[in-house]
Amino acid sequence: MSEKQKNNIRLFIDAPLSLGQDVTLDVRRSHYICNVMRLQEGELINCFNGRDGEFECRLSVVHKKESVLTVLRQTRKMTEVPDVWLLFAPVKKDCTDFIVEKAVELGARKICPVITRHTINKETRLERFCAQAIEAAEQCRRVEVPEVLPPVSLEKLLSSWDKKRRLFFMDETGNGLPATDVFCRNKGVASAILVGPEGGFSPEELTMLRQSDFAEAVSLGTRILRAETAAAAALSVWQATAGDWNTVKEK
Ligand code: SAH
Repeated sequence: MSEKQKNNIRLFIDAPLSLGQDVTLDVRRSHYICNVMRLQEGELINCFNGRDGEFECRLSVVHKKESVLTVLRQTRKMTEVPDVWLLFAPVKKDCTDFIVEKAVELGARKICPVITRHTINKETRLERFCAQAIEAAEQCRRVEVPEVLPPVSLEKLLSSWDKKRRLFFMDETGNGLPATDVFCRNKGVASAILVGPEGGFSPEELTMLRQSDFAEAVSLGTRILRAETAAAAALSVWQATAGDWNTVKEK
């Protein structure tokens, strides 16, 4: 953030961003800038589009219906995020929101809802998940926004799996090895973490997972965690052992 930039605002803009360019904001973003944040013409904010990096921009026009930004300078380049996906069975609305938000903050590269036998909430709102992923990326200062894939059934997921990627399924039945051991052993391997729904995986699903040679059962300890806690815990352990938590943030 430059000295002239008093606010701490980061805005995702779904448009190409390059130096000197003017970008017109849609009504929703213009309303946010003008009425919610009450920014003035001439003020600076940071923008990113998930493709070109992050840029400092000046507000050239502030209007509740159509504001315009001028791209001044690049503040960050695109970075390579560690290769871990989060696959989760949708749970109750607020808890699913939590899972999506935390997956973004904890650096998942892709996020995918998976429908399992005991999934109660089969109504998945892809558009809402995408909007939440963008909001979380704005807040946690990611330069890329993780892709949110449309929901897929567990059977379909397993039958179309790319075997070069390891699938770590969180297994609360006590049959998995400790997460730290498993993730350490798989450092540098393309990974995916799978978390079950409130009711857990069915016995048939556990058998199917155990029979898949690309999949491995992982334990998060002896206590039964809620699905949203398990998702955040598994991603945290993965980032600490095999991911980028040993990397210092650039100033
Ligand atoms: N069937 C359980 C609840 C499932 S918890 C019961 O009611 O007894 C929801 C999901 O969180 C599980 O499917 C699993 O993927 C994950 N999970 C919860 N606690 C876990 C643990 N200690 N180790 C590994 N995974 C866990």
